[in-house]
Amino acid sequence: MSIKIENLVHIYMAGGPFEKKALDNINLEIKDGEFVTLIGHTGSGKSTLIQHLNGLLKPTSGRIVVDGVDITEKNVKLTEIRKKIGLVFQYPEYQLFEETIEKDIQFGPRNLGLSEEEINKRVKKAMSMVGLDYEEYKDKSPFELSGGQKRRVAIAGVVAMEPKVLILDEPTAGLDPKGRDEILAQVKQLHKEYNMTTIIVSHSMEDVAKIADRVIVLNKGKAVLDGVPRDIFKNIDMLESIGLAVPQVTYLERALKEKGFKLEGDMITVEEA
Ligand code: ADP
Repeated sequence: MSIKIENLVHIYMAGGPFEKKALDNINLEIKDGEFVTLIGHTGSGKSTLIQHLNGLLKPTSGRIVVDGVDITEKNVKLTEIRKKIGLVFQYPEYQLFEETIEKDIQFGPRNLGLSEEEINKRVKKAMSMVGLDYEEYKDKSPFELSGGQKRRVAIAGVVAMEPKVLILDEPTAGLDPKGRDEILAQVKQLHKEYNMTTIIVSHSMEDVAKIADRVIVLNKGKAVLDGVPRDIFKNIDMLESIGLAVPQVTYLERALKEKGFKLEGDMITVEEA
């Protein structure tokens, strides 16, 4: 699914003394199947932007066109849009509520009116994609799990609905480095397997350097940079000035990995096959 954002402006509490322009004339086009990272400092407008993409927020002005349909029009069925655009909120684990993991992941696909067989197939696939063994975990309570595991259950619940677009708001927030790397690798793998247009929101340049194909940088409600990581990282001064310093070593690691090498301490070695 493609997404076209045209002249999008969002003003909170418009007209009041605390009026806040959170999005300031955003124009973007995201193509079907793209993997996009949206990055910006806290308060730059990332959450506001993604909440427009499935109709949770309405623009003050501007349009959002999803596969040719303007979803900001009054008579658009948001339930249909939300089936196609899956949004994983920040700290999604707080929304787990069923008594077992399997039931929790079944919830979304069941609401789509699928057969039991199809639901079961999707739950198994989604669990395996996020690295949770079906037999081992299906009957466990979500509350028995670690933070990172709970988050994976929550992501699997959205993935099992097989949306055409998957949006994840800060999926690595609050996880330790190992948990972060695992989630990022799984999101990348999900994109490959399901071929969904994927938008991952982050405020960490380290995450971006590890996985992004296309990076969109937001600052004060404006899209200030848009491109491949290699080009984005050239704007070191600008990135630093908006609080997004790039850890160069992370970028070097990625560049080496692409060529089959890895950095170990101060040595560069050949990666095992
Ligand atoms: P980010 O996700 O990048 O941290 P947000 O989209 O949450 O940024 O916020 C963008 C700006 O809008 C910030 O200045 C924030 O304080 C403001 N904002 C966000 N939500 C609201 C709200 N519900 N009411 C008023 N202002 C808000």
